[in-house]
Amino acid sequence: MSPWVRIDGDELRVDAARIVWSPAVCASTDGIAFWLRASGTRSVVHIAGWAPGNQAADLDGVEVRIENSGPDAGVDGRFLSSALLRFGRVTSERAVVSIDGEIEALEPDDETRAVFAADLVCTIAPVAERDHCIGCGGPLDRFSETRDQFVAGFRISQRVLPVLCPPCVGNVEAPRFCPTCGSAFDADSILTHGEEGRTGYNARCPHGHVFSGALPS
Ligand SMILES: [Zn+2]
Ligand SMILES: [Zn+2]
Repeated sequence: MSPWVRIDGDELRVDAARIVWSPAVCASTDGIAFWLRASGTRSVVHIAGWAPGNQAADLDGVEVRIENSGPDAGVDGRFLSSALLRFGRVTSERAVVSIDGEIEALEPDDETRAVFAADLVCTIAPVAERDHCIGCGGPLDRFSETRDQFVAGFRISQRVLPVLCPPCVGNVEAPRFCPTCGSAFDADSILTHGEEGRTGYNARCPHGHVFSGALPS
């Protein structure tokens, strides 16, 4: 099967599609929040959502309805007003996703809707855990917090880790350890953006993990 995206019957080419997911509780039910992104010649599809389950493979055979997700779902630069996603042939690494939906017009007063349909073959991966302190490389697990946020209209609770452990807060000038694996960055592998990293850093650890971002102030 080759993947496709159609808007009002016009077919747009899709080159790659990817889903990242993370455990998330919604209304006291264990589940996973997911973020789907497909790119091609002109179209970019992005859709977030939530489904019950504990791992990616639990999406197999699941239907997810998205309504009024606002900026959490869009197609070709326009908001998706509603969509039904059907997951099939899901493994821990791959999923086929069929989507039927409606896209809002570009002009806010325009009530017309475009018909959107897609069949995508997506790679699946969990959101990368960054569980090492960027200042000392130590574990962050015991400093995790649970936070609520809205994803595509679903109110979900997620475990969130800080970037720095409490003893490092206020004592770290630049990233020193890889947040993914905890190994030390070589000094020449750190790129500083803006004066003293005001706008952030890029760093690559010896294992190839990339950190890109600012230190919390
Ligand atoms: Zn630390
Ligand atoms: Zn690393």
